Amino acid sequence: MIKAVVFDIGDVLLDFRWREFLEKNYSEESLRHELADALFQNELWQYCDAHDVPLEEAVALYSKDVPHLESQIRHILTHMSEFFAVFPHTLPWIHAAKDHGYKVYYLSNYSRVAYEQTTQFLSFTDEMDGGLFSFQEEMAKPDPAFYKLFCERYSLKPEEIVFFDDREENINAAKKLGMRAVCVTSDMMSQEARWFSMTSGGQEDMLKVVKFGGSSLASSGQFEKVKNIVEAEESRKYVIPSAPGRRFSGDTKVTDMLYQCYECAQEGKDPQSILDQIKDRYDQIISGLGLSLNLDEDFKQIKEHFLKEDARDYTASRGEYLNGKILSAYLNVDFIDAADIICFDTEGVYQARATKEMVSAALSHVERAVIPGFYGADRSGHIHTFSRGGSDITGAIIAGAVGADVYENWTDVSGVLIADPSIVKDAEPIDVITYKELRELSYMGASVLHEDAIFPVKEAGIPINIRNTNRPDDPGTLIAEMTCRPSPYVMTGVAGKKGFVGITIEKERMNDIVGYCRAVLGVFAEHNINIEHMPSGIDTMSVFVHQDSFREQEQRVLADIKSRVEYDHIELESDIALIAVVGRSMRSMRGTAGRIFAALAHANVNVRMIDQGSSELNIIIGVHDQDFETAIKAIYSIFVDTKKV
Ligand code: ASP
Repeated sequence: MIKAVVFDIGDVLLDFRWREFLEKNYSEESLRHELADALFQNELWQYCDAHDVPLEEAVALYSKDVPHLESQIRHILTHMSEFFAVFPHTLPWIHAAKDHGYKVYYLSNYSRVAYEQTTQFLSFTDEMDGGLFSFQEEMAKPDPAFYKLFCERYSLKPEEIVFFDDREENINAAKKLGMRAVCVTSDMMSQEARWFSMTSGGQEDMLKVVKFGGSSLASSGQFEKVKNIVEAEESRKYVIPSAPGRRFSGDTKVTDMLYQCYECAQEGKDPQSILDQIKDRYDQIISGLGLSLNLDEDFKQIKEHFLKEDARDYTASRGEYLNGKILSAYLNVDFIDAADIICFDTEGVYQARATKEMVSAALSHVERAVIPGFYGADRSGHIHTFSRGGSDITGAIIAGAVGADVYENWTDVSGVLIADPSIVKDAEPIDVITYKELRELSYMGASVLHEDAIFPVKEAGIPINIRNTNRPDDPGTLIAEMTCRPSPYVMTGVAGKKGFVGITIEKERMNDIVGYCRAVLGVFAEHNINIEHMPSGIDTMSVFVHQDSFREQEQRVLADIKSRVEYDHIELESDIALIAVVGRSMRSMRGTAGRIFAALAHANVNVRMIDQGSSELNIIIGVHDQDFETAIKAIYSIFVDTKKV
């Protein structure tokens, strides 16, 4: 069991900016190189970490081969405090690890000179449970003796430690001894830096792409909130609107009305009355905002297009187009038509490379702009849309192409919720979630973002921040490639779906029969049935598939299995709901599965299947459909509610 988190200090908890220091103090490049070689990139640096070397001795050592640099070397060694700084994440990391019940230590290569110069920055060590500085012990990483001394001093076994360091050789040495070790990469640090400057209000130098969903732009009142949000920060430069969504439950989205219009025209009926209703919605927004915009001409053009056969996407896209025009007028910023920069081929397949070039070229000189979501065009100007909910994709594409620091996706909830709010009333939002965790939850039915919106930002290493237009002060959820922050409740989220059927096959000595599983799985593949989960034992294998896709082919599948393999027993169990409990912190916590099952037993829910993913990122539980809601509530409660009391 993990008991302790151990941090390296330089470049992990303290920013060590010697390059910037040299640049600031020595204008000549060749001198900077000489000094870097004489000091920071010199083996003597490690020597001074691993021995107790006072200042004068250090100056003499470093300048022995380069006596002409002695005065600069002395200057640098006596001004070290100028190139150290505490990272904004340092204390939050320490506190997060402590909150999680871990002891927190440092294990650092540090010289006496650096120590004496930087004591004022090291006050965070007071909040830790202890640690070792190399010069005090006269040994340094990656020497295994140093790690062993640490373990002895704090009575820890290597396997009880998670060790964070930025150097490969130190990580490898820790792993060799049996510690879990995490390499703190520069990517991870810049992501943390972004996150902390985002949450602490230091947004000045950032570039954000902000996408607003339909409910955020459904009425003039919502437009006002959007304007306040955009104008609250200089960094919010590119704004991607959806079409007006629902204003109240039972209301119709403009995109749906546009599709209706198009169908109506296709059936040879006059779509005018629906068109009037749509125009009325926009006119209400325009007059509510006090703008003097007239959309008569646009509506005339839209109607003309109805007569064309291939105008379905064009028609649907006008929802975003018109909303974008209104928003740009209201914000008083440029309007850039997505048809000019988001590229499709004539078959309607999105063209990533061409788009990236177009977007970069079009936006390089534009300070702030509104770009409607959901559509683009092919070379001949024909409009194509993404699939429904596709404004998320446009936002992600723009964020990726301009290299945004963050992609803010504004909606009507304060982030991705830990559980479905229709089951768990007042479910809390998740603070930070990794892409992998999100994928597990979305796959199991949690609806958050359009799936295709993840890729363009993930690829570019840009985090997504889900925010609530109606509660702009809520921090929302940060979706990132990775994070050091454990989830506060061990489980990051829980989601599930009903309607599965489990097929369990038993055969004595199944494990001795080569190709047995393959033969069974082949049958499902031949019938084009997707396998959702496959827990197995020594003499049993189970296959979980969607009931709908299985039902029609049931008898043929069973007959094929019978003809391919011999079995002792086969059993079908239908109406199974699969629930995924997802969490990056689960693997380091003892007893997670035990807590889940205790909670379910207590709620009188019978567990039909358990499958722990090999990534240990999730535990899948099968329960009867009718127990689904009770099970989700019980799991939420055991992790979240019990932690709060
Ligand atoms: N308006 C489109 C839809 O309703 C796209 C979007 O809102 O993202 O699907």
